[in-house]
Amino acid sequence: MSEPREIGIALLGLGNVGSGVIKLLEENAAAITARLGARLVVRTIVVRELEKKQRLVAVDPSLLTTDITAAIIRDDVDIVCELMGGTTLARTAVLAAIRVGRHVVTANKALLATHGSEIFAAATERGVDVYYEAAVCGGVPIIRALREGLASDRIEHLMGIVNGTSNYVLSTMAETGRPFADVLAEAQALGYAEADPSLDVGGDDAADKLAILVGLCFATTMDGSRIHREGITQIDPIDFEYAERFGYVIKPLAVARDHGTAIEARVHPALVPANWLLADVSGAKNALYVHSYALGPSMYYGAGAGMLPTAMAVVSDAIEISRNISARAAGAPPMRTQVSEPRPIMPIEEVRSRYYIRIGVADRPGVLGQVTTVLGYHGISIAQVVQRPGQDTQIVVLTHEVREGNLREALGAIDTLAVVTSKSRFLRIVGSTPAG
Ligand code: NAP
Repeated sequence: MSEPREIGIALLGLGNVGSGVIKLLEENAAAITARLGARLVVRTIVVRELEKKQRLVAVDPSLLTTDITAAIIRDDVDIVCELMGGTTLARTAVLAAIRVGRHVVTANKALLATHGSEIFAAATERGVDVYYEAAVCGGVPIIRALREGLASDRIEHLMGIVNGTSNYVLSTMAETGRPFADVLAEAQALGYAEADPSLDVGGDDAADKLAILVGLCFATTMDGSRIHREGITQIDPIDFEYAERFGYVIKPLAVARDHGTAIEARVHPALVPANWLLADVSGAKNALYVHSYALGPSMYYGAGAGMLPTAMAVVSDAIEISRNISARAAGAPPMRTQVSEPRPIMPIEEVRSRYYIRIGVADRPGVLGQVTTVLGYHGISIAQVVQRPGQDTQIVVLTHEVREGNLREALGAIDTLAVVTSKSRFLRIVGSTPAG
């Protein structure tokens, strides 16, 4: 029997994900070769520092190099896996790989959210594949589900927990009642959060992932920097208590909806009905709820990060590309890339939602009346209200659905009232009725 043919891989990066790829390719080599009918062989590995002492996996030192260009243009490399991170060198490397006809796998959401249009256009022109399963929800095969599983459907809206660090912090705050800074420090000590966690807890990482999902689901191009984002840093332990009292939990959400002409896309913490599946997604797990025309609701859940889950997505992409290489060699036409048209993003003021509002007020008669009068003046109707008297008097209001611009104007006016002791805070509520 003849030896299976080899598909050559250049790994750019041997950190968490790159090391996972080496481990998986070694441990699952026989199964991968059997499924693919070809062997995936790592020809070269680009690192920043050749002499680094503590590598996560042992590799043949002769594979290591710091020369990215030489690694990409090797004749025996078919697929370049970009696993370095960042947007500058990664962009240069990916575009160079495409230019010389190499297929690309990347786990880099920031790269695709910033330079995705340029990269996909270059790949289409050169006739090569760019796969990116690991860039959104790590090991959860959400890109494949959306691109292939739902290829005949029309996605209407989606909502997900796509940042594991934020979800870990909010889940722990909800369970323990501890404040944000305290829980974040613990998450950093345990290695769940980066030394600089601002991209995660500030919503930027989730916005990058949402830009990729929006592009794929709604056949558009979306610059991630234009997505409205709010982090989880302002959530107070008392918000979890109120949320629970009304039948909700607080989750870090990425939300998108196709409105035809415009796209709604936003990242922020929100009150989620406690009886929804998304409410049960805790710790560092990721999940995406998708609503499509034919299938209706569907959910995807799993490990959104980590060495092996993420490497699994990268290697599966490499397997898929290898199949495409064989199909093209056999004369099959390449799969057509979906045509993407830029569409405007809906301003956050035009978004309609229900809201949770918390306001610190003086403990005096008539205060609630003043607050509700301002809300009424701005066309905001109230679904539920509680007033907690005492030293730290607070009014908490749940509204019916309203345009966000109206809500912001009303809160601006409320904050100027003499009876207000601490400025209003608000969170959006998803779901049409409390816990419904
Ligand atoms: P990492 O642990 O920091 O590893 C980065 C690797 O890239 C290192 O091996 C580093 O070399 C190499 N590298 C960085 N800059 C380089 C340069 N200028 N020239 C040559 N090599 C360079 O990162 P990671 O966690 O594996 O993440 C890689 C990518 O996967 C990122 O885009 C990330 O967003 C994405 N991702 C990660 C996860 C996860 O769970 N970690 C999940 C989903 C997606 P040295 O080893 O010599 O320093």
